[in-house]
Amino acid sequence: MTDKNCIFCRIAAGEIPSAKVYEDDKMLVFKDIEPKAKVHLLAIAKAHFPSLPEEGDENALTVAYMLTKIPAIARANGCESGYRLVVNQGVDAGQTVFHLHFHILGGETLPW
Ligand code: AMP
Ligand code: ZN
Repeated sequence: MTDKNCIFCRIAAGEIPSAKVYEDDKMLVFKDIEPKAKVHLLAIAKAHFPSLPEEGDENALTVAYMLTKIPAIARANGCESGYRLVVNQGVDAGQTVFHLHFHILGGETLPW
């Protein structure tokens, strides 16, 4: 369920500090430490799973839950006029933390 060597599990457990903007029993949203846009948040599940779940994986329910929470969280944190939701899935995409996370990028007009 959690991985003691995973930085995002440790953030979810409160062992590593983060600038939290939202938390409930299933997910956490906090500010990215190296923002790539005026608003750069990371949405993570509290459960540890490395990447997008495949068909039949119960973690898919958590992902669906997160996707229904993200719009209001983004709107409440400076992304009223839109945002980009990004998953870096795997090494070719540059994924560095292997605990699924959605990047929420906004607060300005983004270059494509
Ligand atoms: P990715 O490259 O998609 O795996 O994204 C990992 C993201 O996590 C990067 O944008 C990092 O800046 C961010 N990050 C790494 N460590 C922390 C941390 N302790 N607090 C907040 N964001 C972090
Ligand atoms: Zn983890």
